[in-house]
Amino acid sequence: MKQLDIGVVGAGPAGLAVALFLSRAGHRVEILERFETATPVGSGLLMQPTGLTVLAALGLFDTIQTLGNRIDRLHGADAVSGRTVLDVRYDAAPGGRYGLAVQRAALFNTLHDAAVTGGIPIRTGINLTTTMQHSDRVVLKDQALRDAGDYDLVVDASGARSLLAAGSDRAPNIRDLTYGAFWATLDGAGADYDPTALSQRYDKAKVMIGLLPAGRATLGDPDKVAFFWSLKIADVEAVKAAGLERWKSVIRDYWPECQPFLDQIDDWDQLTLARYAHRTTLPPYSGNLVFIGDSAHSTSPQLGQGANMALLDAAALSHALASSSDIASALTAYARARRNHVRLFQMLSLAFTPFYQSDSTAIAWVRDRLVSTIAKVPPMPGFLAAIVAGTVIDPFKPAGLTEHDWLAQRYQADGALPELAAVRSRAQI
Ligand SMILES: Cc1cc2nc3c(=O)[nH]c(=O)nc-3n(C[C@H](O)[C@H](O)[C@H](O)COP(=O)(O)OP(=O)(O)OC[C@H]3O[C@@H](n4cnc5c(N)ncnc54)[C@H](O)[C@@H]3O)c2cc1C
Repeated sequence: MKQLDIGVVGAGPAGLAVALFLSRAGHRVEILERFETATPVGSGLLMQPTGLTVLAALGLFDTIQTLGNRIDRLHGADAVSGRTVLDVRYDAAPGGRYGLAVQRAALFNTLHDAAVTGGIPIRTGINLTTTMQHSDRVVLKDQALRDAGDYDLVVDASGARSLLAAGSDRAPNIRDLTYGAFWATLDGAGADYDPTALSQRYDKAKVMIGLLPAGRATLGDPDKVAFFWSLKIADVEAVKAAGLERWKSVIRDYWPECQPFLDQIDDWDQLTLARYAHRTTLPPYSGNLVFIGDSAHSTSPQLGQGANMALLDAAALSHALASSSDIASALTAYARARRNHVRLFQMLSLAFTPFYQSDSTAIAWVRDRLVSTIAKVPPMPGFLAAIVAGTVIDPFKPAGLTEHDWLAQRYQADGALPELAAVRSRAQI
């Protein structure tokens, strides 16, 4: 592939990662972002072995590892009976995998600093709304329909509400989900929580409260915990009208250990309301405009895959461009490389979401009585671990990646010889 002029729209995880891959492959890349200062939005994220492998391929694993907090287990209990209804452990599948909870700021800073160090131009304060294809070039337009740039290829990484995807001939149907969540990033000091787990409490499927210990934004900062409370978007105003103290007392009744976190919330403005939508852009390209990350596929974050899938898309697109002789065949190869993995996880997310966010007492009953029992019977623990890890089908090879060596990493951390670690890792996988 000859050297290309590539415009990347959006400085989120997908945009920053793809810009790094493509610039390192020798293309002329620039990022265009609508915010005046490129900045992360939101609270915590659970990075899976998939996304961590992409960060390792970019040479950023050690940086994110020092900022994040290792997660070994996803645990959920019925808030009323205390009974465990979800217990997924990464080590139920072989390979030594684990998750890493990070603050969004940590992931953003890691990728953004690498982009700046790599000399990738980032143009901010530009709201891109549409593209025009002129023979084999594509022109990006801002909201005043002024030309913002002219490229061989435009990568749309502008997220779930992408205007470029909505305005393209691939415009997906957007299904807004009934439930969303309030999120906040809070101090963990002095609170009683499991530092190795994503912990949740449920009341049927209408209440879900979660704590994700998410590490630090930059080295030396205090550790934070991402706190979330699931609710129907239609109920937000009524909840606010009833008052913050009323809301806190409901949470306290369900989960008294949340008190130190509730004490830190004095104003609704400290809570970010996240709305979720389910959509898939198919195929994920139109002419010389290609969609990656949430612009290509978005869903509720129930399975914690979105940012990880965005990073996989970035690796797969860069691999497809490196292995093809022209843009059209590269985009077809990119779509093929990601198709099965995206399809499977979109389907799983659609299927799992009502078990945790819906009005159905029947679905919650099935979750609490049947699923929680079946989940303990082999091979289900390993299968559930692979779903959470994002590895239930191989996402690596089609994206040109080799999975990160988790066991070697662990033995090195324990001070064992790297050679021994490599031998053990091969023996156990
Ligand atoms: C509450 C919540 C919790 C989540 N938890 C997890 C989790 O635990 N694990 C996980 O993997 N995923 C999680 N996700 C999903 C994850 O956040 C997304 O999948 C991920 O951020 C997608 O990355 P992206 O780069 O595609 O898009 P985004 O992160 O949305 O970034 C898009 C970028 O494009 C910019 N932009 C948008 N429009 C324009 C425009 N018109 N012009 C120029 N720039 C534009 C935006 O400002 C932004 O910088 C969660 C999502 C939510 C809402």
